[in-house]
Amino acid sequence: MKAIAVIPGQAASIHLTDLPEPSLDQVPGGRGVRVRVIRVGLDGTDKEINAAEYGTAPEGEDILVIGHESFGVVAEVGPNVTEFSPGDYVVSRVRQARGGSVYDLLDAPDLTTEDTYYEHGISLVHGFLTEQFVEEPRMLVRVPAGLRHVGVLVEPTSVVEKAVAVAWETQRRLKVWQPQRAAVLGAGTIGLLAAMLLRLRGLDVVAFARTAPPNLNADLAEAIGARYVNTSETTVLEEVARNGPFDYVLEATGYSPLAFDGMQALAKNGVLVLSSVTGGSRTAEVPSDKINLEFVLGNRAMVGTVNANREHFEAAVRDLALAEAQWDGWLSRLLTHPINGLESYAQAMAALDVKGAVKVFVEVSPG
Ligand code: BGC
Ligand code: ZN
Repeated sequence: MKAIAVIPGQAASIHLTDLPEPSLDQVPGGRGVRVRVIRVGLDGTDKEINAAEYGTAPEGEDILVIGHESFGVVAEVGPNVTEFSPGDYVVSRVRQARGGSVYDLLDAPDLTTEDTYYEHGISLVHGFLTEQFVEEPRMLVRVPAGLRHVGVLVEPTSVVEKAVAVAWETQRRLKVWQPQRAAVLGAGTIGLLAAMLLRLRGLDVVAFARTAPPNLNADLAEAIGARYVNTSETTVLEEVARNGPFDYVLEATGYSPLAFDGMQALAKNGVLVLSSVTGGSRTAEVPSDKINLEFVLGNRAMVGTVNANREHFEAAVRDLALAEAQWDGWLSRLLTHPINGLESYAQAMAALDVKGAVKVFVEVSPG
């Protein structure tokens, strides 16, 4: 079967390859689930992997099949699978619990303390940009048929669900936290989905991005009642000086110096969540005394978040349904760049650089 792969460590090595079909027996105990891939989304992580900044092949192999934002349909189940039946729409979790840490043992591999982590399409496990895959039931999350047109957004939404959940967990220290103002740094897919989740929770949201409006991202932010601020005109800190600081800040730009602006944009008792995977080696000079002092005197908090667990995927499915009900058709507007077929891998990569691309995804097979 066809698959899109890279040679990790070799820049621009993306190519079409041929792999044997997976077998249900890859999962012991008759518990395999075969999924036919329908759509797979791409993001900055795939770009970084193809730039050889990130990504590891499975042990003993030279290539890594990429793609971690899956959406597919169950084609076949092993004799001991009770959770799924053929015809069910599913999304796969990305990270597998293969380490020995207590978090892996509890099936919370997103929190693993091991240095090695196993992520489909990213690290040591092949991804989903192929025709089919076999996984264990615990890795799969059901998507109702009524959401199949936006199923490919479940994985990125799960990442944002975790970025919201970890903040609310952190803020339980305050007993009575009542956030009103949220900032999202970055108005790409993650930033827009974060704005969506925060608007669903009733917060005032400002989305910061570098591109001058009018543009699609600004329109999308405004369509759900968020305000879009063009940082080429007004920096985050200028906006804070003008309209006040934020109770919740999510850094999702991929540009690490902005994490320090995020720290300085927090209100007292506020929380900053860092979610950008920055594979480079950039450095920055920061007003460290001022930042440190404000964190101490204002009980501010900062927390990193990576990946997502099952509960975040399930929350993503529910919130996508809520968003469809509240802003009919809005999610579909995020699906800007459909790419037809696995053969069009070069086009898919190129689309990631197109201005105005929100979600690039490969249509692998008809849904
Ligand atoms: C993926 C996450 C993953 C992270 C780090 C992101 O692009 O969506 O699932 O944990 O990269 O590899
Ligand atoms: Zn991703």
